[in-house]
Amino acid sequence: MDFNTSLSHSAQCLKQAIPLLVKYKIPVTPINYAIWYCYVLGSNLALNFELDNILAEHGTCTASSSRYLFDKYLSDKDLALFHQISDNFQGTLESVQTDIDTTIQSSQNFNSVLLQCKSDLSSLDKSDISSFDNVLNYVEKLTEESVYMQQTAFSFQKKLQAAYSEITILKQTLENTQEAANTDQLTGLLNRGKFDEDIVLHINKFINDSAISKTLIFLDIDYFKQFNDDFGHQKGDDVLKVVANKLTRHCSNNVKAYRYGGEEFCILADFKSVSEALNFCQAIRQDIEKLSVKGKKTGKAIRNITASFGIAFYKQKQSLEDFIASADKALYLAKAHGRNRVEIAPAI
Ligand code: GH3
Ligand code: MG
Ligand code: MG
Repeated sequence: MDFNTSLSHSAQCLKQAIPLLVKYKIPVTPINYAIWYCYVLGSNLALNFELDNILAEHGTCTASSSRYLFDKYLSDKDLALFHQISDNFQGTLESVQTDIDTTIQSSQNFNSVLLQCKSDLSSLDKSDISSFDNVLNYVEKLTEESVYMQQTAFSFQKKLQAAYSEITILKQTLENTQEAANTDQLTGLLNRGKFDEDIVLHINKFINDSAISKTLIFLDIDYFKQFNDDFGHQKGDDVLKVVANKLTRHCSNNVKAYRYGGEEFCILADFKSVSEALNFCQAIRQDIEKLSVKGKKTGKAIRNITASFGIAFYKQKQSLEDFIASADKALYLAKAHGRNRVEIAPAI
């Protein structure tokens, strides 16, 4: 691998590699860094091809796959070179630190010159006419020092500005990538991957407080296969977007909506009571129920859109699988009891 590139090009490659690591949820280790650096550099197409295949199949690159790719395409020499690049960045950071030290030093010098002048001036014999020359000397000395001080501060400020914009761009890139990695392309809702992460946090935050119920809601559009068959997949996609939009309107800090997959959505929320959760679901259900496909000529509704809901409340010590299964069971009941309705998971 050719790491022999300029510092700015190395920075460019790192800037592209880091968001990819975030996107595919790959830990930032030297080996992974080296692989992804090489990937964005495009210096080994066989590695890129194999990595693309791994990502297409698994959606990520596991530690064992990384080790395999590293052993096959890279070497410990590459790792050493990679460390060298990291050291270059370390060097850039250290030079900013040196600039800080220089600026502090010169401001301290300026301070001590000021203090010295002040004490010298106060000890001058004000009746002596030659004192004027002394004062002029001091003014000259102070002017020189302050010009030097200004120059140092100005160049330091420039360097800080450059570092600041570089870091801001990198931060923004990371945030955008993170957001894209968590978002469902079609509906703009949070995606399944994000749900899998969030539900763990959701139940880990479980407080043994009967006033708060950690709630999972599944909702599934009714007879959606038939809808697609009758109106086409494109129209079906439009319905998914509109339903997602309705869900978003009911979201808040404590209520997050996800596209679970296909025409199935889910919501993680904190509610204070069973009736609060029920009312919440009924409100969304009624919102969706108002949606319809209208006949072109008549303008009258020719098909209504409805959805069924299953609610589960987290029970202490319940496993994640059981929590999800009980919401799924409730959804199944809502379907079995006629659809376009809300059911609560039966107590086990
Ligand atoms: P039920 O009331 O029991 O839920 O019936 P259903 O027809 O909605 O359920 P089923 O699981 O039989 O079919 C789901 C359909 O959802 C099948 C598939 O065509 C459709 N679907 C899944 N993902 C998408 C998508 O991204 N776009 C569109 N347009 N349709 C999708
Ligand atoms: Mg369905
Ligand atoms: Mg379904």
